[in-house]
Amino acid sequence: MIIAAIEAGGTKFVCGLLKADCTDYSAPTILARTSIPTTTPAETLAAVAAFFAAESRERGGVDIAGVGCFGPVDLHPASPGWGRITSTPKPGWSGADVAGTLRDALGVPLAFDTDVNAAAYGEFLWGAARGLKNFIYLTVGTGIGGGVFSGGDLVHGLSHPELGHVKLARLPEDAYEGGCPYHKDCLEGLASGPAIEKRWGRPGMELPPGHPAWELEARYLARAVAAYALVLSPERVLLGGGVGMRPGLAERVSVLAGEELAGYLPPLTDPERLSGYVRRPALGADAGLIGAAALALRLCDE
Ligand code: ZN
Repeated sequence: MIIAAIEAGGTKFVCGLLKADCTDYSAPTILARTSIPTTTPAETLAAVAAFFAAESRERGGVDIAGVGCFGPVDLHPASPGWGRITSTPKPGWSGADVAGTLRDALGVPLAFDTDVNAAAYGEFLWGAARGLKNFIYLTVGTGIGGGVFSGGDLVHGLSHPELGHVKLARLPEDAYEGGCPYHKDCLEGLASGPAIEKRWGRPGMELPPGHPAWELEARYLARAVAAYALVLSPERVLLGGGVGMRPGLAERVSVLAGEELAGYLPPLTDPERLSGYVRRPALGADAGLIGAAALALRLCDE
């Protein structure tokens, strides 16, 4: 099975031609890959299609495709807007028909979901959430988003979960007003990479370990994780993204989430169970591509 896997991001589209088996669910092999800057929808999507046409020609073309897309996106199967980006501050992309354009261009069945749901599904099949029926994949970087896997499947509904935009009680020592254009001091507004930079006047990568920025960051993330644990009962939380993967952060968030829960939620009252509750994802830099391929393999069951 030759898979066109696409990690559609706000700054670049990472495309990979992968080979995988529909029946044994072993991890796919990456045959070719490229990165295409996100410019206009027409230009970007045409470049994506051209890459796959060229790379798959000698292998008899692509069989199925999977796209993990930046959001928010319309995922309702019955909606006329299915597969489109809904409202984004990114110029030209509001209403862009990402799934339909790519499906028509590639001429194969195409699975489409959020980038975080794709990453979550990849971690479920081949990464740090193998065998779990309930977990969360949270990414903290330029923005904060999350995929929810519950009862053995990805959660969709009214729309898709937006774990980054929940409002949390603010920490009293934090004077930063928050940077979300919609909610100001939601989790993304307080704890994304840009929020760290605005609050401290320097980007996170320039702030050394031990800087108070990191304890504040861990406390906000712990507050969010405690809320997710109470509402969704995930067995594990994977913390990805440029900020989220910072060494030591997941471990600290685990401990502080336990403090936030204040002994209320067994089995997280057990320090051993709590340790490792929040951890880094396992698929690393290829998580987006592998996740998009994982989405595509869901089409095998249809
Ligand atoms: Zn927000």
